[in-house]
Amino acid sequence: MQKTKQAFYNKYLNFVYNGVLKKAPVQVTLFITSRCNIRCKMCFYWEPVENKSTHEISLNEIEKISKSLPNFFWLLIGGGEIFVRKDLPEIIKTFYKNNNIKHVSIPTNATYEDKIISSLEDILSSCPDLFLNLNLSLNGLGKDHDDLCQSDGVFEKFLSTYKKVCNLKKKYKNLGLGLNVTHSKFSENKLNNIVDYAVNNLTGIDNISIGLARGRPKDSSAINVNIDKYKETVQTIERYVVQGKIRTFKTFFGKIAFIKDMIMRRVIANTVKSGFQIPCLAGKISLVIDEKTNVYPCEMLSSVGNLRELNYDMKKILNGQILKEAVTKIKNNNCYCTHECSYSTNILFNIPLMLTIIKIYLIFVIKNLFNFEAIFKNFEDLKYFKSKQNKQFYGQKGNLYSGRTFGVLKKSEKSHDPTVPF
Ligand code: SF4
Ligand code: SF4
Repeated sequence: MQKTKQAFYNKYLNFVYNGVLKKAPVQVTLFITSRCNIRCKMCFYWEPVENKSTHEISLNEIEKISKSLPNFFWLLIGGGEIFVRKDLPEIIKTFYKNNNIKHVSIPTNATYEDKIISSLEDILSSCPDLFLNLNLSLNGLGKDHDDLCQSDGVFEKFLSTYKKVCNLKKKYKNLGLGLNVTHSKFSENKLNNIVDYAVNNLTGIDNISIGLARGRPKDSSAINVNIDKYKETVQTIERYVVQGKIRTFKTFFGKIAFIKDMIMRRVIANTVKSGFQIPCLAGKISLVIDEKTNVYPCEMLSSVGNLRELNYDMKKILNGQILKEAVTKIKNNNCYCTHECSYSTNILFNIPLMLTIIKIYLIFVIKNLFNFEAIFKNFEDLKYFKSKQNKQFYGQKGNLYSGRTFGVLKKSEKSHDPTVPF
């Protein structure tokens, strides 16, 4: 027991140590495919999905890349629909073996039910020290979901997958189950219904995450959202979590992750309203690799190199001038956007915000003594340290933006303002 406890703390201490010192990435996002069996209206990755990459990163290439990367804590898998790849378990096992990863997040449209279950069984039984968080997409209820996915029967498959994953959770304690709800123009009037439905009917889920539609979706109106509805839904989720109706809040680290999310939603909402809030650490502690082996500081900015051209040696990129320049520009120009993945690490490894997390944790402990129903009554009551502003630009519009990172922009498109929710 003592040994397990020790290993548990060691893994988080190592994560914090690397993140605070900012010497190596703690989070790597790997897009393993651009293939997908459905066509969601608000998909930010629709161009690669439509164009289907002809030379998708292979397991052999992943093995070489992984060997050239230092150890890191958190692997995020991106796509496309992840489970179109039969070798997904081998991919995860490769990083587990070579990079000692401790946490993997896998999003899915939940349509490949049997493949999902067999892949999860394989990964979880082979990687006992790994926490796997599976996030099922849910953007509407019943026909609304199918309409947004532009495909019949997706909601039914979602329910079936959900039930099967819940059964698997009884066997594997290192399996987490979340819901990813995208806030787009199309779904924003029904977000609270989705959350209420999930709380009342999907009691096996651990977390509900709301993400703003972003990038340049096929139907560009998707990103014209009402940010007040975002705030409202965020508060609904937070109330449910604090009341114990969503499990996320039940452990110490669950509380820390949830408080980080609370801060992140405020940072994002305030970014939409008034621009730059906190420094971005993309390229320093987080990196993105796409299915064509291009490497990026984040999903919005230009590539800093292609691993096929560099003999799959990530060290050449990590120690190279191009990444260093990109990181300097991000810092000096106060780059900002609303992308949740980068902001998770930006908040966790921002020293003043670490203090905010501790402060909110203490407020929670005190309020808990009095059976409170929410940590903060109003969205704006959560205050955080906002960095000073010098220059600023939006990541998709600024100096670093020399073409779309994922998928190539036509020349005529480049001259247009990117479609951003501001
Ligand atoms: S959002 Fe995901 S599931 Fe939907 S089309 Fe895009 S890649 Fe496929
Ligand atoms: S666009 Fe800028 S702020 Fe957004 S993740 Fe990339 S570097 Fe960070």
